[in-house]
Amino acid sequence: MFLEPHFKGQRSGWIEVICGSMFSGKTEELIRRLKRAMIANQKVEIFKPSVDQRYDKSNVVSHDMNKILSVPVNHSSKIIELSTDFSVVGIDEAQFFDLGLVDVCQELALNGIRVIVAGLDMDYLGKPFGPIPNLLSVAEYITKVHAICSHCGNLATHSYRLAANAEQVMLGAKDEYEPRCRTCYQMGNILNFNPIKKTENNEGQTSDLFS
Ligand SMILES: [Zn+2]
Repeated sequence: MFLEPHFKGQRSGWIEVICGSMFSGKTEELIRRLKRAMIANQKVEIFKPSVDQRYDKSNVVSHDMNKILSVPVNHSSKIIELSTDFSVVGIDEAQFFDLGLVDVCQELALNGIRVIVAGLDMDYLGKPFGPIPNLLSVAEYITKVHAICSHCGNLATHSYRLAANAEQVMLGAKDEYEPRCRTCYQMGNILNFNPIKKTENNEGQTSDLFS
């Protein structure tokens, strides 16, 4: 259980990282922390990477019942200028940001802001993803969340790509992945034809539910 830090009277902020595979509940955990801050009347803003130039608010996140408005930005440097009025800044899907995000988060923390970053720690090849490994190095607090392996039910740390596509980023294609433990991930396509049957309740909920 993650306990929110509080340094009353301290001038500096800090960095929290929530990382894990797809379907591990990173975004839910991000929302939980942000909502608690909102309830305490702290000024909260949430950013996510955008592939286009729009600045309109849009829903990040999760569940129909558990969503929160976020600001899409196309480069990490924009986050600094848009964060001046806030005491808590959340960043979702942080793995898609440029490496400059690390310095951005450090600057925000130095400015007294609580920074909560959520993102994939590994890409589909099992390699460290974007700015996340460096953020883990400089963060005060790290929470690694896990999914459940689709094949054996153990804790899953890997995002296995079912589709044959070698690009690191496949946007909007969450149905093309499944969570796997280390061993099942290593077994690769051998397991593709023998997944645990998904129940009807799980149908149609896959895309934005867990990230
Ligand atoms: Zn497994």
